[in-house]
Amino acid sequence: MNFQNTIAFAQQLDADDELKQFRESFYIPMMYGKEAIYFTGNSLGLQPKATQDYVLNELEDWASLGVEGHFHARHPWMPYHEIFPNQLSKVVGCLPNEVVVMNQLTVNLHLLMVSFYQPTKVKYKIICEAKAFPSDQYALESQVKFHGFDYDDAVIEVAPREGEYNIRTEDILQAIEQHKDSLALVLFGGVNYYTGQVFDIKSITAAAHKVGVLCGFDLAHAAGNIELHLHDWEVDFACWCSYKYLNSGPGGVAGVYIHEKHATNTDLQRFAGWWGYEKETRFKMDRGFKAIPTAEGWQLSNAPILSMAAHKAALDIVEEAGMDRLHTKRKLLNAYLWYVVDEVNKAKQVFEIITPRNEAEHGCQISLLTDSNGKQMFDALTKKGVITDWREPNVTRIAPVPLYNSFEDVWQFGNIVSGL
Ligand SMILES: *Cc1c(COP(=O)(O)O)cnc(C)c1O
Repeated sequence: MNFQNTIAFAQQLDADDELKQFRESFYIPMMYGKEAIYFTGNSLGLQPKATQDYVLNELEDWASLGVEGHFHARHPWMPYHEIFPNQLSKVVGCLPNEVVVMNQLTVNLHLLMVSFYQPTKVKYKIICEAKAFPSDQYALESQVKFHGFDYDDAVIEVAPREGEYNIRTEDILQAIEQHKDSLALVLFGGVNYYTGQVFDIKSITAAAHKVGVLCGFDLAHAAGNIELHLHDWEVDFACWCSYKYLNSGPGGVAGVYIHEKHATNTDLQRFAGWWGYEKETRFKMDRGFKAIPTAEGWQLSNAPILSMAAHKAALDIVEEAGMDRLHTKRKLLNAYLWYVVDEVNKAKQVFEIITPRNEAEHGCQISLLTDSNGKQMFDALTKKGVITDWREPNVTRIAPVPLYNSFEDVWQFGNIVSGL
């Protein structure tokens, strides 16, 4: 498409947008008396207007039914979490029995490592991305320490080459091959939180499997953003949070995927709790843990219903919009963003984009590297009602999302930056 950097053109794209009405399903924060240009759906997705009703229903049922709500609430709490696998399996591309909603992201990462990082004296190393999200780094550090290893020895970080911002797939595959004799696990992000680079999940998984090593992914920045086919790619396990692209509220309950071949293996090592116990006999409260033969077998505690109600409100919107239409709009919205940023840069070089330009290697987010005036520009943007995300020392991340951002938002952003 031949884009134009005009408000009329952006408004025409909005008029042609099949998903335009979904913006009305969200509260857009107000700044200085008008709707903000909200580009931080990669950090905290906006609140669906329906969320309050979904949560209030559960509060009402709790008030009127007390403990009976476990069986007689409008959405009984006992099996509440069972509503998620169908919807989430479409978001991450897997079978319903491979997905479960529980806990929060970093907790789940640890639980998955209990099952899938079982190092020996010889094979104990983990390959991950350099500059992984700090919580993931701390999880890895404490896991290898827990097993008696040293981070610098046990964790191999694959970094961009000198002078480059992104990690080359060939370098990841080469590292896997090079360390195969000492490797226990490959654990990567789906999308790097800082640069927005999408990793080649399929190739990385295949390379790990070729050398007999398990492969898992942190999909915090991928779930609800990029196309995923976890089952077909034979990814062993993955986890993600629900509050970024999945709009389920700050600190909301998180998601886990475990490939069927592992999920059905009830002998697989894990840290267990009563909610992962066989449903038919759970309340006999017998000794001896018997796992549910699905991803649910990793659950520990009974479900946090209020958080799950918010998750349900958000996923119902995702389902109505449909992942295919969301991906189509995401690509067009993002292509328009690249175009507008290029136009801004033509007039005066403001940013360097450190996100890969190739469409297959980015999702909603682009990361803009600025010079030493970057923080001033970030502050100036905020004063103009543009909410972006600042990362030290000099990167601004922006992520227009297909559910509630408009093409006009993107044009406005370019227009405001040009006027600074
Ligand atoms: C957002 C994010 C987290 C946050 O972890 P929580 O346990 O939800 O606080 C962790 N890892 C990655 C890669 C993230 O993007």
